[in-house]
Amino acid sequence: MYTKNKVKPFNKKIYLASPTMHGEEFKYIEEAYKTNWMSTVGENINEVERIAAEKAGVKYAVALCNCTSALHLCCKLAGEKLYGKPSVGHGALEGKRVFSSDMTFDATVNPIVYEGGIPIFIDTEEESWNMDPIALEKAFEIYPDVKLVVYAELYGFPGRVDLIKEICEKHNALLIEDAAEAMGATLNGKQCGSFGDYAAISYNGNKIITGSSGGCLLTNSIEDATKARKWSTQARENAPWYQHEEVGYNYRMSNVVAGVIRGQYPHLNEHIESKKEIYERYKIELKDLPVTLNPITDGTAPNYWLSCLNINKDSMCKQVRDDSKALYIKEKGKTCPTEILEAISSINAEGRPIWKPMHMQPMYRMHDCIGRNGTIRCRTNAYISGGVEDIGADIFDRGLCLPSDNKMTKEEQDIIIEVIKRCFE
Ligand SMILES: *Cc1c(COP(=O)(O)O)cnc(C)c1O
Repeated sequence: MYTKNKVKPFNKKIYLASPTMHGEEFKYIEEAYKTNWMSTVGENINEVERIAAEKAGVKYAVALCNCTSALHLCCKLAGEKLYGKPSVGHGALEGKRVFSSDMTFDATVNPIVYEGGIPIFIDTEEESWNMDPIALEKAFEIYPDVKLVVYAELYGFPGRVDLIKEICEKHNALLIEDAAEAMGATLNGKQCGSFGDYAAISYNGNKIITGSSGGCLLTNSIEDATKARKWSTQARENAPWYQHEEVGYNYRMSNVVAGVIRGQYPHLNEHIESKKEIYERYKIELKDLPVTLNPITDGTAPNYWLSCLNINKDSMCKQVRDDSKALYIKEKGKTCPTEILEAISSINAEGRPIWKPMHMQPMYRMHDCIGRNGTIRCRTNAYISGGVEDIGADIFDRGLCLPSDNKMTKEEQDIIIEVIKRCFE
């Protein structure tokens, strides 16, 4: 048996999630090289757009340098549709409130701010760890003028994006779906990335498939796809010289990156399968501990991108976090994310805290976060604040992401599991 200080660290680090290559990627990179399509035009890009749209079940995909830029163009498209073209020096969402997922990576929210919007966060539901539809309804009561919602699927486990879409329709609001973490996941047989009026997927190095970087904007509107493609290549007008009528961006995907992505797509399902095995192994092996893993919502098939756990309230030892450090007091039979993360790290494996909710971030301290029962005025990491429950802060407090790399062997995962169990002694 392993004891905490007897476990030998892995020789090679076990990552949270790292690129898994298969060989075909190289063929498409080489093709781009040999034919000299080494820029932002070429067959690989055309193929990525075709495959991405087909896989997601939408009409059009626009290949971009990353998912953040895709989300930016989603915000710009939505903003112009809702409020008209902004004048020079203003964003398309200038001064407008936008509802956003709260417990997510900050790339969900930044693009709202790029366009001058004011994010209002919507609390997370315990049932799915995604945006709470009841809290969203509540938010529309408080702010009936809001016309845009940005929703992210957390860790590849879809929540009730169908309900979220219904609520948006009821309030004449548009929906941007940030499916960066959820490529290949489904709800009621429908792919993530096909629920929003606009959606974005990511090929970042740690995602389920990767191009080293890259992303796609997904839409069913040819006008929107054409606009996004134009904006992404410096918004050039059709003229013999560089003619400009609106602000442009340099957001197009490289044909070399597209080659990697093209080679990865045939392996998407295989990656989902191996991530699912990792999740299920954690689930079975940790079943006697006072923990829960990412919840799976009825009707969904997750892509299992990251396996995460939450420690039950009564098995948490004391833990406090400020803006950069954490401290805990060890108690017999109890533990906390900080201790487990230290233990995982001590054997040369990588874990991570749950994405810290946006309303707890210093830069959004003054922004509202709406929970089921009203506005959360939480400016600390206490998870009950002013009588309104703060689900996101609570999940952050008690949760962590486990090593979920495709290339981790069963034996390596067994050792990680053993080390986690030891923390509860
Ligand atoms: C990774 C990620 C993004 C950003 O993707 P990039 O391709 O790195 O720009 C956006 N949203 C979420 C939820 C993510 O996890």
